[in-house]
Amino acid sequence: MVYKYINEHAETFIQDLVRLVRQPSISAKGEGIAECARLVEEMMQEAGLSTKILMGEVGNPVIYGEVWSKNSEKTLLFYDHYDVQPPEPLEKWDYEPFGGKIVNGRIYGRGVTDNKGNFVSRLKAVQAFLETIGDVPVNIKFFVDGEEEIGSPNLAPIVEAYRHILVADAAIWEFGGTDRKGRPHLYLGLKGVLSVEFKAKAAKKDVHSANAPLIPNPAWRLVWALNTLKDEYERILIEGFYDNIVPPSAEETEFLRRIPFEEKELKEELGLKQFLKGVSGFEALKTWLYQPTCTINGLFAGYTGKGSKTVLPHEAVAKLDFRLVPNQKSDEIFDKLVRHLKRRGFGDLEIIRHGSTEPTKTSVSDPFVSLVAKTAEKIYGEKAVIYPLSAGSGPMYLFRNFFGYPIVSAGCGHPESNTHAPNENLKIESFITGTKFIATLISDFVNAHA
Ligand SMILES: [Zn+2]
Repeated sequence: MVYKYINEHAETFIQDLVRLVRQPSISAKGEGIAECARLVEEMMQEAGLSTKILMGEVGNPVIYGEVWSKNSEKTLLFYDHYDVQPPEPLEKWDYEPFGGKIVNGRIYGRGVTDNKGNFVSRLKAVQAFLETIGDVPVNIKFFVDGEEEIGSPNLAPIVEAYRHILVADAAIWEFGGTDRKGRPHLYLGLKGVLSVEFKAKAAKKDVHSANAPLIPNPAWRLVWALNTLKDEYERILIEGFYDNIVPPSAEETEFLRRIPFEEKELKEELGLKQFLKGVSGFEALKTWLYQPTCTINGLFAGYTGKGSKTVLPHEAVAKLDFRLVPNQKSDEIFDKLVRHLKRRGFGDLEIIRHGSTEPTKTSVSDPFVSLVAKTAEKIYGEKAVIYPLSAGSGPMYLFRNFFGYPIVSAGCGHPESNTHAPNENLKIESFITGTKFIATLISDFVNAHA
């Protein structure tokens, strides 16, 4: 009955998704946020959910929606976000980034997969139950973030303040999809991330480089400081950086071995002959998912335009991020970083801490994981590929570490979705199958021991 409803209403589901895609919601620029928040709330109400706006003292609103089951005590929570990445570079798009144009069975638009398509597929699955049986098999909660694409910097106090309504038995995270062979990919965890900025300063203003014998150069100072962070063997040299790291368990390793790692394709795409330190195969996959990192994201100093300019800059800036793995903690890593720089004689650098999130994961042996995997197999006709941890980051830890319920990330994306890139798109077929997958998961969850 529910599948029939989904099939018969596919066209209106698509139109609703297009409507949401046409509403820009760029958190990085604050563009269209209030309007999109209103639209998300309206769509939830149209689907039959009651809604509430969760606001912190600062930041974009979270849209919360819920519907209670008449027959079940169990609760499934969906984490999604309505904000999107900026669409730039605009000239690389074949279609309007906020046009929602449909071409060859795909909807094009910024955010159509990440994360509006996933959100709408979940919402429509719930709507399908309400419209056909007038009830939902389990209690449903939606938590729709407005700042995910900028690192959810204001989310912790909101989760804390509304913890009484965010209680659940399990949650489905925002992303996921199928690979080129149609296998569904599920993700059980995220790395943490810590973003920082170093500022080196010397004279009050830029001077002629003829003065270099006398005037200190902050660009050199910054380079020397950066050079103490990591060696040419990729070892991060901050004292205690690798403390508390938990390597993959035997069970996780088993799951890792089953992941089809598209090494050749990735190297080809990037024009690389080999990965760092020459790792390949299983070693490369393990390194990718379980190694913490220290990455220079950007360096700025002096003149970087065309030709040359004999200038001695008065300021130099570096932006870095650290990807953290279980059980590293961003506060500890930041303290260790500050201590390290002081000890190495770089106490004069200004260190600015930007956003951070913590690593987290759900156990591969959690019954909810096997439930989601089984349901995915049923729908996609292929065995699910399970990632015990993923290389990305997000605010999953706020829910996982705070409430302790299992969280699995699963969605309706595909390898050519181009998320965060020009021509982001979602296959209509994946969107509709994804809606059926979520509907099936909701009904399978009733009797599961998860
Ligand atoms: Zn994203």
